[in-house]
Amino acid sequence: MTELERKQDHAPIPVGWEYETAPESRDIVTLRERYGHFVGGEWLEPKEAYTTISPATEEPLAEVGQATEEEVQLAVQAARDAFENGWSALAGAERAKYLYRIARILQERAREFAVLESLNGGKPIRESRDVDVPLSAAHFFYYAGWADKLEYAFPNRKPKPLGVAGQIIPWNFPLLMLAWKVAPALAAGNTVVLKPAETTPLSALLFCDVLRQAELPAGVVNIVTGDGRAGAALVKSDVDKIAFTGSTEVGKAIKRELAGTGTKLTLELGGKAANVIFDDAALDQAVEGIVNGIYFNQGHVCCAGSRLLVQESIYEATVDKLKRRLQTLRVGDPLDKNTDVGAINSQAQLEKIQELVASGEEEGAEIYQPPCRLPEKGYWFVPTVFTNVAQSYRIAQEEIFGPVLSVLTFRTPDEAVEKANNTPYGLSAGVWTEKGSRILAMAQRLRAGVIWANTYNRFDPASPFGGYKESGFGREGGLHGLAPYLDFE
Ligand code: NAP
Ligand code: MG
Repeated sequence: MTELERKQDHAPIPVGWEYETAPESRDIVTLRERYGHFVGGEWLEPKEAYTTISPATEEPLAEVGQATEEEVQLAVQAARDAFENGWSALAGAERAKYLYRIARILQERAREFAVLESLNGGKPIRESRDVDVPLSAAHFFYYAGWADKLEYAFPNRKPKPLGVAGQIIPWNFPLLMLAWKVAPALAAGNTVVLKPAETTPLSALLFCDVLRQAELPAGVVNIVTGDGRAGAALVKSDVDKIAFTGSTEVGKAIKRELAGTGTKLTLELGGKAANVIFDDAALDQAVEGIVNGIYFNQGHVCCAGSRLLVQESIYEATVDKLKRRLQTLRVGDPLDKNTDVGAINSQAQLEKIQELVASGEEEGAEIYQPPCRLPEKGYWFVPTVFTNVAQSYRIAQEEIFGPVLSVLTFRTPDEAVEKANNTPYGLSAGVWTEKGSRILAMAQRLRAGVIWANTYNRFDPASPFGGYKESGFGREGGLHGLAPYLDFE
């Protein structure tokens, strides 16, 4: 260790830094008291309703519909009609115009969407503003570009749309998951019925306004809200494809339900990604990558780097730097521009995190949480690191989906690969090393759909995303993301 590093090791921890709050104004968002389902271009008054809240304050935001089977049927019928009466016959270049319009309107209304996303989901405004919303617009721009080039994308295969796509999305990236689903489906010439997650319906409902502004033909995109029952009704309905993102448990149930039917299926499920730090990695950068990997979006990320694998020789230095970095994370009001870690999305998710963290302590792992004052109301969890973790512990095996990191060590690259792959999941992984050859060698051997090198949680619409094993099948993004929405002769 150089003299300089030693000095840095003993540098005082900046616990005294105080920031003024810098809250983003809520005024840009106008909420209605009650929302219906968006069916055939109209608002359908729902038979049943529930209240959606802000997880940061528990304050009620609006009433939204709990779709019944009949209401889901109406939405599927509207999508079928739109498919048969025009949309499927429209020239690709015309479909592209609508997608470009949607992308541009999302950009124009970016601040409104960012505020609403943080309000309803609890994620920091910095993330919804800089990640969720721009990436959502980018997705529409990207797939707009393919809409009139499908024959070139799949030469000599005569691509044809499937018909009606049923799409079920989770609460961790509500608008972005909508974009991942809707953009390729429309580019390929399908129509859509989408169900957002129970806890985060509002950005999808605001998106209906964008669809009207873009003058998308009625029924091409339909949105029904509600809990898992609405999702189950959509799976059972007369759709040609189901695209699902969410838990492995529900994914398996959907697969069972659709087995033997002609309905196509893609599943994007959970993960327990290894973030592997070799002893030649640029350690300060790696620590930033570790923090981004697990505390981004409160760890509510399917590809989160939730298992940290550190080479033994740098274990202490890494954990030391990591703990100090944790002390500088600001947890609190999602609408404050200084906030790094926002609210946990729901009471249920908070309980799940608490239960798994308790299991980690019981099984013998050592817990570290920085000193941190949490708001009184709402759902919160302090960024947490577990050391002394054995591979058999639940916190090393199960997806926590919260701001909780489990640290394990390895000695050789072989051991790193062995441990990284020792999971039922296979969605993503990270590798930190200065050696290019080692990056390539690791990428070959890690059984994960996405592998980041010297970075983490980077997304691009042109790059396919998806998993192996219990992380699901099918790809979203890139050309790969178009294929599941097409039939080939
Ligand atoms: P989930 O229940 O699988 O939710 C995903 C979506 O499926 C939601 O829209 C959900 O509605 C809906 N759904 C629930 N039951 C259904 C059913 N029987 N048939 C069809 N659709 C159904 O996941 P969750 O409850 O939100 O979260 C549970 C765990 O899933 C998390 O702790 C995490 O481990 C994992 N997860 C993974 C991802 C990912 O990106 N891969 C995303 C979110 C969660 P409701 O909103 O009403 O549940
Ligand atoms: Mg659920």
